[in-house]
Amino acid sequence: MNLQSNVVIVATRNKGKLKEFSHAFEPFGKTVVSMFDYPELPDVVEDGKTFAENAMKKAKTVGDALGMPVLADDSGLCVEALNGEPGVYSARYAGEHGEDHDNNLKLLAELAKLRLGEDTEQPLLSPAQFVCVLVLYDPATGQHIETKGTVDGWITSQPSGNQGFGYDPLFYLPHLEKTMADLTLEEKQEISHRGDALRQLVEKLQTET
Ligand code: IMP
Repeated sequence: MNLQSNVVIVATRNKGKLKEFSHAFEPFGKTVVSMFDYPELPDVVEDGKTFAENAMKKAKTVGDALGMPVLADDSGLCVEALNGEPGVYSARYAGEHGEDHDNNLKLLAELAKLRLGEDTEQPLLSPAQFVCVLVLYDPATGQHIETKGTVDGWITSQPSGNQGFGYDPLFYLPHLEKTMADLTLEEKQEISHRGDALRQLVEKLQTET
């Protein structure tokens, strides 16, 4: 599979993801378009049990509808103390239209139920991992490429930073002594689950062509 077009279609209406993909594809001279450019297409129901199932469903549904190659991202936060939750439900943890702020409050509330967060001397509440599965699907051939990226960190009771999106202010990276939301777009891309999955995707595309 190759991405000859100068345009990459990403099956998302998430502005945070869109910003990161636009930044990542810029050096390749590619413009990213998203589902905001196709308002007639309905949201894909994310009813898969895994990130991979949801990413495949989004890429295939949108790719088949448009008749063009489509890249989809399904991602989320898996918190060890919550047995991997919110996982595939990360976007709607606090309800169907869960805003980032509400999702973050709900996460801290769930950890507080486990009595995590009571010790103000110890802001790190639980190990956690961000996961991102990317699927690039070409309806012309029916082929797809899948990659998975991860990054490990801790959930902190002391949110910090105003970059990024989603759970970034609560995701603390001990080796950097910063949260994901403290990082610039470039810094986040270097270490993030999405950056990891994207680098693997580019590698696979380069070895296949
Ligand atoms: P989905 O892939 O559209 O189901 O949504 C992914 C959800 O996971 C987002 O709405 C965020 O809540 C969370 N998430 C995924 N990636 C990130 C990230 O890079 N930073 C913070 N939160 C993220």
